[in-house]
Amino acid sequence: MDSYFFPDPSSAVLDAARGLASTWPQTLAVHESPLYLTATSPASERTVAIVSGGGAGHEPLHAGFVGRGGLDAAVPGEIFTSPHNRAIYEASRAVAKPGGVLHVVKNYTGDVINFRVAAERLAAEGITSAVVLVDDDLATGSDDTETGRRGTAATVAVEKILGAAADRGASLDELAELGAAVVAGARSLAVASRAQTSPGTGDPAFALGEGELEYGVGIHGERAVETITAPSTHELLERMVGELLDAVAPGEDGLLLIVNGLGSVTELELHAVRAAVGDLLAARDVTLSAALVGTYTAALDMRGLSLTLVGLQAGWLDLWLAPSAVPGWPAVQRCAPATAGAGRRAASEPSEQSESSGSSGSSGTEGSERGAAILARYAEDVDAAHDDLTRLDQLSGDGDFGDNLTGGLRRARELPGADLGAAADAFFDGVGGTSGPLFGLVLQALATSDTQAGPAGLADALAEALESVQRVGGAQVGDRTLVDALAPAAGAARDAEQRGGVAVAAARAAVDGASGTSSLRARRGRASYVGERALGSPDPGAVGIALLLVAIAAVDDPGGAGDLPSPASLAASAAQTGRLDP
Ligand code: ADP
Ligand code: MG
Repeated sequence: MDSYFFPDPSSAVLDAARGLASTWPQTLAVHESPLYLTATSPASERTVAIVSGGGAGHEPLHAGFVGRGGLDAAVPGEIFTSPHNRAIYEASRAVAKPGGVLHVVKNYTGDVINFRVAAERLAAEGITSAVVLVDDDLATGSDDTETGRRGTAATVAVEKILGAAADRGASLDELAELGAAVVAGARSLAVASRAQTSPGTGDPAFALGEGELEYGVGIHGERAVETITAPSTHELLERMVGELLDAVAPGEDGLLLIVNGLGSVTELELHAVRAAVGDLLAARDVTLSAALVGTYTAALDMRGLSLTLVGLQAGWLDLWLAPSAVPGWPAVQRCAPATAGAGRRAASEPSEQSESSGSSGSSGTEGSERGAAILARYAEDVDAAHDDLTRLDQLSGDGDFGDNLTGGLRRARELPGADLGAAADAFFDGVGGTSGPLFGLVLQALATSDTQAGPAGLADALAEALESVQRVGGAQVGDRTLVDALAPAAGAARDAEQRGGVAVAAARAAVDGASGTSSLRARRGRASYVGERALGSPDPGAVGIALLLVAIAAVDDPGGAGDLPSPASLAASAAQTGRLDP
């Protein structure tokens, strides 16, 4: 089954062209038969028209690059299929200028032939044309193979730079020469962890095993020359950058980088890759003049990315930065000078603040023995329950709760004192999500009373914790949150104060409360979005609170706590059966 959202798969390319044109009516227009798009208000200084085209599936290339400062016309073929020579010929004739037509062609046999035939038909009518062949793909080897290197994402740089030059009145010969020089100075390298899927069948174009990567992949789902065991992303980028730098030399205007998504890689990943590549280049004393990051030459929905480096000769940076108005690329900027690895170093060194902040409410760096024992026990139990907590949060939320809780507790044990105050600090300063600050508040109340009153302060501490969680989050009992464990625990602790056994009573009530959330429909937090679907499994935050109170009971009243359910079984049975069976 395919998972594409084409209203009508048989007219996907035409539909997309119509959609683009109706969104950018002042920039481009669509001609339906044969299909091509033309710029509606090209710069008046242009004496040569620039026309490009190729199979669809690479968007925004080429249709999105039509407009002022870009292409005069784009001719899309069917998906991954060269446009017909008649469409190229008619589009070129429609936009031809006195100085002729420049064709920008990615090096694929079908495209090359169809553009060549179109050029002959134009010549027969007295329209001069020239071609810039883009063959930037480093993975397709040496200059002397029969078919040569494939044309990929460097096309974006070629079309942008040529567009700016054409806007300044460059002649056909000048443009052809400039285009060839840009191509000569540009190389790209692409990798993929999943092939693109077929719009017809939904099947990937090629299969990759778990942990495998296609290295040097093309943009049509051709397999790469090499399938590698996926290294770390950092190692992968190091290899790619190294190979590209062997092939591309920075010019007088420096170096341009394009980090290009192949269809299914997120912007978040692409920008993070951009930062890492900047660091890798800086470490080799190479600075970037400009960079472009995003999906500009896709391979349908391939999960992969490409890096392109272009050595910029004198004057090219100015052309790259020249204003343009096309739908597919943004206004670009000159890069800020990089400092090698600056971000990475700052992130891995502990900040002054977290080193010196000490513990809020506990007795400074000495910590409390009880608090340290509770933290140690709790951290151990939560570590053991990590996967179950994750699963519970997957059932009702986004699945990060296990990581949030274990991460916070691990950090807490590295802080001075490694007690409840350290835990409060760790959650306040370092744990996000909804649970981060809420567990911070709970732990802070417990830490304060721990240092002031020890076990005797537990009932007050739980009351204080409940009050602050409700003040901040607004949840009531019955909303299916951690309040459903915390509130019964606070109540039971208060009730037990006269007769004793506070810690065990609180823990038992918390476990029962957490268990009871299985039959509650969420009214707060992320779980409220899934409605009935969370019914049958307990709230992860409530289970996290139950585990905390069980840990406190184990420290405060080792004898009495023997009757309590083991924390591991608690979360495990909840995650497996949806019930919290003591
Ligand atoms: P997020 O939903 O941001 O991913 P976490 O996964 O870290 O948050 O934490 C989820 C837990 O937060 C839930 O299981 C629930 O117990 C708790 N929670 C959510 N909203 C509230 C609220 N308003 N008050 C108290 N607890 C809440
Ligand atoms: Mg979550």
